[in-house]
Amino acid sequence: MLIVSSDAGLLLIDDQRGRDYDETRVALDHAYHRPVVRIVDTHWHLDHAGGNGRFAEAGALVLAQANVRKRLAEPQYMSAYKQLIPASPTVGLPRQTYDVHLTIRFGGETVRLVHVPHAHTDGDTLVKLDQANVIHMGDVFFNGIFPFIDLDSGGSIQGLIRAVDTALRMSDDRTRIVPGHGPIATRADLLAYRAMLAEVAANVRHQIAIGHGLGVIIGSRPAAVYKLEGDEDRLIGAIYAGYITH
Ligand SMILES: [Zn+2]
Repeated sequence: MLIVSSDAGLLLIDDQRGRDYDETRVALDHAYHRPVVRIVDTHWHLDHAGGNGRFAEAGALVLAQANVRKRLAEPQYMSAYKQLIPASPTVGLPRQTYDVHLTIRFGGETVRLVHVPHAHTDGDTLVKLDQANVIHMGDVFFNGIFPFIDLDSGGSIQGLIRAVDTALRMSDDRTRIVPGHGPIATRADLLAYRAMLAEVAANVRHQIAIGHGLGVIIGSRPAAVYKLEGDEDRLIGAIYAGYITH
């Protein structure tokens, strides 16, 4: 979660899980004494957008890329977790959506929203705060952790790498980069993440080309050298799926 404060109230980039609402609300009241007036969902996953309903009931306007609203409005099956996520109640759906990009003013800040297609999901937004020089990348960026590519929600390795390239173009050496998971990062960290994705993807693609199946590829541990947290095999499986279907 990233917080932008203005005289009119707070803008939240992501609002965490629904069950976190009370604790978040108390912490925000303590720190800012201001209402949450706007929310941007970086994508539909409920560890990022699960607070929508409660914040909207308290008066916040929720904004997201159009595919976020579509997915939240319908039950979603996540095969990675073997879990059916029920549709959100209407109050939890973004009331304002955009398609490709949107720039809003909030207090003294220019907030630029850019849709990066088929990356972590099909509804990911990169959020750039121009004056603060901060980018929130949602789950396009897992810092220090193997990323999760949600194939059921339209994610792909190809789109994930393109999305990282978009963020790199939007940043400079002083940009603070907020990942969806892991610590705040620099552009150098993002470049290292990009190199990791490209090298692992090239390895998997090469092994597919010489006839290796998924089991052999996973067994060869093509990402082991990176020693990151998270689920290496799940990432390899998602990359494999991305290349055999495209
Ligand atoms: Zn996610």
